[in-house]
Amino acid sequence: MATDDRYGIAHRHAGIGMTSRRTRERLVQRLRDEGIKDERVLEVIRSTPRHIFVDEALATRAYENNSLPIGHGQTISQPYIVARMTEALLRDGPVERVLEIGTGSGYQTAVLAQLVDHVFTVERIEALQRQARKRLYELRLNNVRYKFDDGHMGWVEKSPFDAIIVTAAPQDVPVALLHQLANRGRLIIPTGGNNQQVLRLITRDGNEFIEEHLDAVRFVPLLSNTL
Ligand code: SAH
Repeated sequence: MATDDRYGIAHRHAGIGMTSRRTRERLVQRLRDEGIKDERVLEVIRSTPRHIFVDEALATRAYENNSLPIGHGQTISQPYIVARMTEALLRDGPVERVLEIGTGSGYQTAVLAQLVDHVFTVERIEALQRQARKRLYELRLNNVRYKFDDGHMGWVEKSPFDAIIVTAAPQDVPVALLHQLANRGRLIIPTGGNNQQVLRLITRDGNEFIEEHLDAVRFVPLLSNTL
């Protein structure tokens, strides 16, 4: 008998799946209450199994609106933040090519891969990247390319990008990323020190960069070496 991976995932996680339908609905409602309006984003969050992006021991907490540890001192981003960044990314028109810096668990990558044509994602911790790649493969999200590297320099060979999303916080915006934006492209990036970060949306208009502040946030730092 042929085996279907999707069925395999659903089957293996059946117990969690059964109880999570309601908790997933509750999560989506929570995101609506907090101001997320884009139905495409809400639908993808409803249907993406966040519990496979965390350790089994944390799976029952996967649909809470919280960040959770994923090992190596890193965290899976809070669903509200994933929704907010994705909504901002899609806000001003169609997006084909997206660069993500900080693959982490791969959850944000999986959300993006269902909403845009191509995702390019860079991670500095090889073990995290390997796991993320495996999860997205199991979910049959094949429009993602992975790079193991320090993301400060972006991915120049694949540029220009319609959007760049950074899921760890540098002190200041890395200039290389601005250069890799297409015209009208958007960079969504948290910047600042450990306790005071702001989520910025920067839109390119020729050689001008127009900036908005979206939220006060707390991300892990964007670091430089690879592991
Ligand atoms: N979007 C991810 C967030 C993970 S936390 C998720 O939801 O799971 C941020 C990630 O950025 C971590 O995996 C960390 O290793 C990675 N990171 C930090 N500095 C980096 C850099 N310079 N280049 C690439 N990835 C980096």
